[in-house]
Amino acid sequence: MDLKQQEHEVVLQTYKRFPLAIRRGQGAWVWDFNGNKYLDFLGGIAVNALGHCHPAITIAVERQIRTLSHVSNLYYTEPMIDLAGQLVKLSGLDKVFFANSGAEANEAAIKLVRKQHPDRNEIITCEQSFHGRTLATVTATGQQKYQQGFDPLVPGFKYVPYNDIDALKNAITEHTAAVMLEPLQGEGGVIVPDAKYLPAVRQICNDTGVLMILDEVQSGCGRTGKFFCYEHSEIKPDVVTLAKALGGGLPIGACIVSNKAASGFSFGDHASTFGGGPVPCAAGVAFLETLEKENLIQRAAELGDYFKRALRDKLSAHLPITEIRGMGLMIGVELNDPIAGEIVGKCLKNGLLCGTAGPKVLRFLPPYIIEKQDIDLACEIITHSISQ
Ligand code: PLP
Repeated sequence: MDLKQQEHEVVLQTYKRFPLAIRRGQGAWVWDFNGNKYLDFLGGIAVNALGHCHPAITIAVERQIRTLSHVSNLYYTEPMIDLAGQLVKLSGLDKVFFANSGAEANEAAIKLVRKQHPDRNEIITCEQSFHGRTLATVTATGQQKYQQGFDPLVPGFKYVPYNDIDALKNAITEHTAAVMLEPLQGEGGVIVPDAKYLPAVRQICNDTGVLMILDEVQSGCGRTGKFFCYEHSEIKPDVVTLAKALGGGLPIGACIVSNKAASGFSFGDHASTFGGGPVPCAAGVAFLETLEKENLIQRAAELGDYFKRALRDKLSAHLPITEIRGMGLMIGVELNDPIAGEIVGKCLKNGLLCGTAGPKVLRFLPPYIIEKQDIDLACEIITHSISQ
């Protein structure tokens, strides 16, 4: 019996998987069970920033799992405190809560801002946003397709168009606790806001006493050419969430907060059995060390520019492309027609893994360790797949 059939019988059918079973990965490549190799430009959906099986991660994980794998948050452990210290330094914020995923990091942020002020419990998020699949984060997500069938949703969420400063201003009331948004929308279509948008949101939050939560689950950890995407706008949020790349492939989420935003939380207000475990945190420390040692954030910025240029040179002239956009190695190609899924299927057949962000947008989230020749090859496969 093949894997596909086995999966169908025993796994709850919530994922429509591609027709590919992956056996192993190394660097920017993965191999199937027949020995065919594929260039991985989706990176486990923005997780594998160092590529597959980077030695820094495998060594750190092996060492940690042989030393101490889990004790719960009832005790102090070194990797967690080490990683929290580094995230505080990188963000300029004050404290970290560790979770196990992006949705959980956002869930922590939502609870935290509601607890901060007794009369303020409303949260404003953006249309086309994506914040996760737990009940609160799917409510925060400004896309009805993810919410259908799950009523009653969590009360207290309001949605405004992304990149619209006036709409945000008008939506704020004396009950607004926070504004929550992605500095670069990922799942919603790789949407880059105007340069003045985030500074304006920061100013509105300052003027109204509303907290600013940035969801950097996808855009964070160097992906856009800065550790946090918000650094491009020279602002600082009150709360920022990370996940995906932070654990070097292991599950982790982090909610990083200012003392002001954290002021409502006290002992017992939030918890997680696995959150901040020694193994994912040791992997996180190794991930941050490797970013620094191999100068990978700068590399993501430079290779992102190279990739966009190559896509523009090779694609736009004769193919049905509306726009090529993104920052660093978070890149979207908008097609004229809603055929992104079909093109992704063709790319897979031609040896390239990539994804969609909505029906018209191809999404690329390659590891930061790729080479220019990998980008050239990816562009050839994309061009060939679209023209097919
Ligand atoms: N927030 C953003 C911006 C995301 O892109 C995602 C996942 O794609 C999430 C939250 C949810 O993260 P997770 O799937 O780890 O729960």
